[in-house]
Amino acid sequence: MSGLRPSPSRWLWEQHCCLPLHCRADISELARYPAGSYLSINIGYSPQSKADSTRLAEYFRWNASADSRFRLVTGRDDLAVARADERIALAFDLEDSGPLDGDLANVEHFHALGVRSLLPTYNHVNAAGCGCLDADDTGLTAYGRDLVRELNAVGVFVDGSHCSVRTGLDLAATTQRPMIYSHSNFAGLWSHPRNITDDQARACADTGGVIGINGVGIFLGRNDPHDGAGRLAAMADHVEYGIDLVGIDHVGIGSDYSFDHVDFNHEMQQNPGAFSAAYTMFGPLQWVPPEDTLRVWDVLAERGFDDAAIAAVAHGNFDRAARQVWTA
Ligand SMILES: [Zn+2]
Repeated sequence: MSGLRPSPSRWLWEQHCCLPLHCRADISELARYPAGSYLSINIGYSPQSKADSTRLAEYFRWNASADSRFRLVTGRDDLAVARADERIALAFDLEDSGPLDGDLANVEHFHALGVRSLLPTYNHVNAAGCGCLDADDTGLTAYGRDLVRELNAVGVFVDGSHCSVRTGLDLAATTQRPMIYSHSNFAGLWSHPRNITDDQARACADTGGVIGINGVGIFLGRNDPHDGAGRLAAMADHVEYGIDLVGIDHVGIGSDYSFDHVDFNHEMQQNPGAFSAAYTMFGPLQWVPPEDTLRVWDVLAERGFDDAAIAAVAHGNFDRAARQVWTA
């Protein structure tokens, strides 16, 4: 737990959300989250190169530095300072190892730009391992294992979201520090290739890690555009399922909210190579917005969870894991 103990609803550790991946994105949208929150902002996935993701990180950093509502994370102290100053702490994540351009020295490069979590494989096989949409699952490669060691050494979360089952299990077996699933729900509740098995969840928890529950309709099994209340309840269901499965210390939030979902839905339709029918068969994706993510705590309270349990899910668990990983 953090030394600071504001009301659980006052600050959120959001382990993954998405601004548009171009240098016209409006980062002021991030102020929809409450002051004191920590946000991990995506700066690229499989289509981006090192140059693309570097440009995005620099653009987001430049904008955040010019806006007094935000504070860039350089060290762990920045989180406490951001909460004390009622700012929003910002760091970045990569969804795929492709933006490393095949050079592990670039982990250090992106860490210096504020990247604090990286997942090796976005949906489909690459040099590091297999993705969750691959029919043939051969797990983490030798390069992928070297990548895990480099992430451990530099102090970046090893993230299993979007990876295949075996790749996820291999990540847990390889990492020397807590691993995370930044934004993954449970296949035991809703069968979808993007959701993780109970074995993956247990292996993650055994490393001391945390599973961030997302608010994406197709991964919750509630994608009707008019069913916001159903999505909120389903998000709480996945939190509750995770707590029953791996314990209160290993569940958090990574809502995956997309601040430009019209663009993202268009990109999915245009890019069937990265997004199979498992993504597109339900119609345009729906998300639980930041304002509703904060209401998950009310749903959990109605279900009998106390303040300490809610605080653990809201921020405490990822905060603890970061303390163990980021101080490499
Ligand atoms: Zn994702």
